[in-house]
Amino acid sequence: MNQGQSRGVRIYDNRHACYFCEKVVLHIKEHLKTHRNQDMVKDILKSDQPNFTSLRKFGDDRHNRKCVEKKQGEIILARRPKGKFDVTDYGPCPNCREWVMLDHLKLHYRHCQSHEKNTVKMRRKDLVFQAQVLAGHLKDEPSSLMSKEVLPIMTRDVMSQTAQNDPLVMALGESWLRRNRGNVEKRKYYASSRMRLCARLLLALRDTKSNKDEKTYLEEGDDDEGDGDVKCEALVPKADDSKGLWHYLKPNHFDDIVLAAIKCAIPNADDEDDLLAPSNAIMLKYDLHRLINSKWAMIVKNGSADDEEAKNCKTLLALMDLEWEERVTRFARLVLARRKYEYKNELPSPKDIEQITKYLRKELDHLELVADNFRRLVALCQARILLYNKRRSGEVETIKLQFYASRSKPSDGIDESLESDLSPVEKHLLESQEFLRVRGKRGRPVPVIIPPDAKRALAFLASVEGRRSSGIVEGNPYLFPNSVNHYARAYESLRFVCGGTRSTRTT
Ligand SMILES: [Zn+2]
Ligand SMILES: [Zn+2]
Repeated sequence: MNQGQSRGVRIYDNRHACYFCEKVVLHIKEHLKTHRNQDMVKDILKSDQPNFTSLRKFGDDRHNRKCVEKKQGEIILARRPKGKFDVTDYGPCPNCREWVMLDHLKLHYRHCQSHEKNTVKMRRKDLVFQAQVLAGHLKDEPSSLMSKEVLPIMTRDVMSQTAQNDPLVMALGESWLRRNRGNVEKRKYYASSRMRLCARLLLALRDTKSNKDEKTYLEEGDDDEGDGDVKCEALVPKADDSKGLWHYLKPNHFDDIVLAAIKCAIPNADDEDDLLAPSNAIMLKYDLHRLINSKWAMIVKNGSADDEEAKNCKTLLALMDLEWEERVTRFARLVLARRKYEYKNELPSPKDIEQITKYLRKELDHLELVADNFRRLVALCQARILLYNKRRSGEVETIKLQFYASRSKPSDGIDESLESDLSPVEKHLLESQEFLRVRGKRGRPVPVIIPPDAKRALAFLASVEGRRSSGIVEGNPYLFPNSVNHYARAYESLRFVCGGTRSTRTT
């Protein structure tokens, strides 16, 4: 129900709805006693001081949820609201199901849960989100804000398709929209970027070892054959694998979740510095909390909190609180070590580099600029620039089209932001060749020099026609795109090129 759709909702504060027959009555305690054949009522009546509070709240909750769903009826609240009433400002406490103002939920919850054992700590935003799901404020179908603002700006690619087909990711997007309702300019971007991040997580999860027996994402593209086909489509889901996040958010998938989070949160971490600040992984942790909480709420909405699957959600949340930070760091180091190892093995000796460079220059010079050669050109350019500049691979592979468009010509001179760290040789190179700026360590701009022999190919990779004819997704921001909205991997390119020189040597 949207803001302002509260017409036709009247508020009771002295009547309650019966959990069993759904009648709204003035004296609920007396009324509930008439259902003495029900086990729950029997149990309560056994006590010396029968307490119907809990059952009353559950009855009210069921009643309110029906009102929200039908968009009519009278909401039962603990307190008469002051001022303008908007039903979406209210929702049930996930613990006792009393409907309270969402702004006061945390306060209520702390008090409400204080008598319980085995409690999991809940953040205010998570609680509110859970209550919104329970209340039915977050619908299965996209809200009008979502349809009008967010969905149209999401590029039509695998990531957004995945996001839009996953109920949990959609619910998360809705919650981001709501939370930033006041920020009219930015809210759609917040929502869509978090939805895409979670979609990427889902794709990575589908790709984890336990799901793919043969090989993991980390080992993608081990092309021993060197048949010249660069593998860039690791993130494209297999047609037969359509399991949603719901399936993966379970305690027994915890390891996979951690691994997947690292893979999509810090894809370019090839440096200790990147790993020491895994802010994206931390951000994902918050989103995961919210996703798990909403799964819990969706289960409990139609069943009970004793449900095995609902309990699993709580276990997973507890696991995350206990182990996330440490695991993420450990896994991240593992990823790093592995990449370094692979890189060392891939990195050619100086003598080989000379040969490879010769090969690259020849290829870049002669290769025809046509769609069929697009991927080959991507690999050649990446390898050439990587070896020429000795930059970190992450800096090279993520070069944006706009960096290329605003590259410096020799006549432009060097600005002060770059000057301080340069050696005389580098300075000379920058004064005589084209270069572009990328974000280096700690966000400082660093130069990437464009070797003259790569100019022709780069112009093709950046051209609208070149990209369109080669099937590159429109809006892909990278100079070295792959077929989805991502970029080609520099290591893969280097590996591919090494394969190329080997085969030329043998022929
Ligand atoms: Zn009744
Ligand atoms: Zn409560």
